[in-house]
Amino acid sequence: MSEPSTGQKASNKLLKLLLKTSLISSALIIIVVGYAVSLLYSQHVLEDAEYDAISVGEALVSLERHLLITLDDQHIERLNVTSDGFNKLDETMQKAMAPFEIIKIKVFSNDGTVVYSTDHSIIGKNDIKNPRLKIALSGGISSNRQKKDEITDLRGEKKFNVDVVETYIPIINNKGSIIGSFEVYKDVSFSNLKSQDGIEKSLITLTLVLLIVFSLSLLIIRVAAKELNLAQVKLHKMATEDPLTGLKNRPAIIESVQEEMSHNQREQSIKAKYPFSLIMIDVDHFKSINDHYGHPVGDQALIKIAHAINSTIRTHDLIGRYGGEEFLLLLPDTDLEGAKVIVERIRQSVENIEFLNGGIRIPLTISLGVTTVVTDDSSYDQAIMRADKALYQAKGAGRNQVAVQITS
Ligand code: GH3
Ligand code: MG
Ligand code: MG
Repeated sequence: MSEPSTGQKASNKLLKLLLKTSLISSALIIIVVGYAVSLLYSQHVLEDAEYDAISVGEALVSLERHLLITLDDQHIERLNVTSDGFNKLDETMQKAMAPFEIIKIKVFSNDGTVVYSTDHSIIGKNDIKNPRLKIALSGGISSNRQKKDEITDLRGEKKFNVDVVETYIPIINNKGSIIGSFEVYKDVSFSNLKSQDGIEKSLITLTLVLLIVFSLSLLIIRVAAKELNLAQVKLHKMATEDPLTGLKNRPAIIESVQEEMSHNQREQSIKAKYPFSLIMIDVDHFKSINDHYGHPVGDQALIKIAHAINSTIRTHDLIGRYGGEEFLLLLPDTDLEGAKVIVERIRQSVENIEFLNGGIRIPLTISLGVTTVVTDDSSYDQAIMRADKALYQAKGAGRNQVAVQITS
């Protein structure tokens, strides 16, 4: 029969496992969500910058069209930044773009040459091999995000460690042909900081929510496990306890004897001698108590006797109700001489019980059959049979006494 603590141990183990699993899954959820949220924010920053770049490009082309584009003989618009228009264009760029956190603008002709840039030093350079410029010159829009160690802004001031989104946008003339491209650099460092702040706040909120959810779940499981343990203890008690006397029941005391027997056999192989004693106890003339006073009084007598025996034995001795008015006592690590002393004490304690019924004392006595388990005992029932035989002898010799049976 399993110990009551086994269920407790199992549920503690389960709770620990659950705690570990909760912590690992929380960490995984936070990592995955953190990664997904940062991807989303990053995409948002890129799309935002691209939208601003397109708006700026469109505004420039519509408001300052005359500074960028001229009509040729066939009334077709051509990209043409004249030396007269250059200063005016430059001034417009510096004034109008700064509030949008635009730090640099380039205007490419459709052969990839920089015809205007807020950074004057690169005017005239050709970048036709740039694949993203090629996209814009074929009518597409291309954006990407970069970290620049150093960049010169619209006012000519140097900025370091800047997060930049570069967007290439095509410039289209009155005939719908692509005549060049804008490249707009937008500083997204601030948006980036804001998004990092957003990610941190989202993750802190998520961590708190997970913590609350898992703590609540663990709490509920703990309560359920406790209830389960109590139910198990109750079940164990029901399966091993005699309901009338509260002593071990027959299967439980037999199991104790079997355990002691295997312990005894293990010890025998190490030490020379490891005795234990078995005592069969039977209430004398119990039938007449029932007959004279009734079954409930008989029950009370059994309770009194069980209590008297139980309070006389040592803490490590084991007593069980073997049958109706029979008890089986197991004295571990006790030889015949030791057992004789204890059983005599038990006999006297029962004899001395003050069992009153309607003011009349009902005498209670027991007979006891003692045996000691020896090396050649092959099974527990052989030893029990010997104790039974000894009990029979005690009854035959007049009851209220102890008899001993050493060999089968
Ligand atoms: P002896 O001295 O030879 O043992 O005589 P006895 O009367 O004790 O033995 P017997 O076997 O004739 O009677 C035992 C009685 O115990 C019979 C049975 O009704 C009674 N008994 C068994 N279990 C219980 C119980 O739980 N409660 C009560 N009140 N009586 C029980
Ligand atoms: Mg009997
Ligand atoms: Mg009896």
